[in-house]
Amino acid sequence: MKQINYNVDITGIVQGVGFRPFLYNLARGLDLKGQIVNRGNAGVRLTLQGEEGNLEAFLGEIEKKKPKIAFIESIKVIKAESDKIFASLAIGKSEEGRGISLTLPPDIAICENCIRDMRNPDLQKYYNYPFIACAVCGPRFTTVRELPYDRERSTMIKFPFCKKAKPESCMAEYSDFQNRRFHAQTFTCSVCGPNYQLYDKEKTSIKTDLIEEILKIATKRIKEGEVAAIKGIGGVHLVCLANDDKIILELRRRKGKRKHKPFALMVPNLEIIEDYFNISNKERELLTSFRRPIVLLEKSRNFNGSNISEFVAPSLNNIGIMLPYSGIHYLLLDHI
Ligand SMILES: [Zn+2]
Ligand SMILES: [Zn+2]
Repeated sequence: MKQINYNVDITGIVQGVGFRPFLYNLARGLDLKGQIVNRGNAGVRLTLQGEEGNLEAFLGEIEKKKPKIAFIESIKVIKAESDKIFASLAIGKSEEGRGISLTLPPDIAICENCIRDMRNPDLQKYYNYPFIACAVCGPRFTTVRELPYDRERSTMIKFPFCKKAKPESCMAEYSDFQNRRFHAQTFTCSVCGPNYQLYDKEKTSIKTDLIEEILKIATKRIKEGEVAAIKGIGGVHLVCLANDDKIILELRRRKGKRKHKPFALMVPNLEIIEDYFNISNKERELLTSFRRPIVLLEKSRNFNGSNISEFVAPSLNNIGIMLPYSGIHYLLLDHI
């Protein structure tokens, strides 16, 4: 018997944003069969079979329920007859060979669920693990080498998923459609993923592999007035206390040409920002968005109570402020 296939092509920012797992669960809930694949040109292609009403419902829900970060440019649907009967629903192997596209997915700030897992001592593989990520958060632009978006075309290829680790291996999480890391491409855990190393200024490794130890030593020295350079997502942050005139001036001296140029600050949370800056709804929205930009904020009347050194942004009424956006930021700020 001939089947009616719905061939659906979706373009936009639909790779690296948890889109395939989203489509899978949406289609599964409507009892649809078929397959979902990433296309080499940055789109997603679905071939679906099922009851017409459910297929139409599926199309209607995509825009409404899509992951927040996804951006849909177009959805093209072609109904075609086919002899092939799909027995199940699956995420298929990505199409290859289309090279680099202009719509690479962006880096996405760590999500609330991952922050919670990172702080949960019962979750051995993620506890204090700064590289934690999931299908909707984590570096993308920085790790992806080309599209279609898959682990084998990202820098994470060096870190194969753990398969046997307890309690649950990364491979098991990746394969479970109810898990929020189902089909996530670039997550890892403390068993299978990268780890931080700590070096002193002579570039000698300070001997410890334990993140807890690294954080303890690093924060102790930062509090004593030293500057740390921390490798993050796509760059390096210089970290020191913002309330210490001496160290801010020393940082300016070391940076040479930066005698008066303002520095931006990372502040642990919105509440502290609101204590010392005037902040509008739009600014709040920008600060907390997944892009976590630096936002220029106006000092409030209480600003002096913050003890922020005047040398951070000399003789300016505004300071560039950002919220933490990666695991290492949260862990460091927790410790400090
Ligand atoms: Zn996450
Ligand atoms: Zn793992």
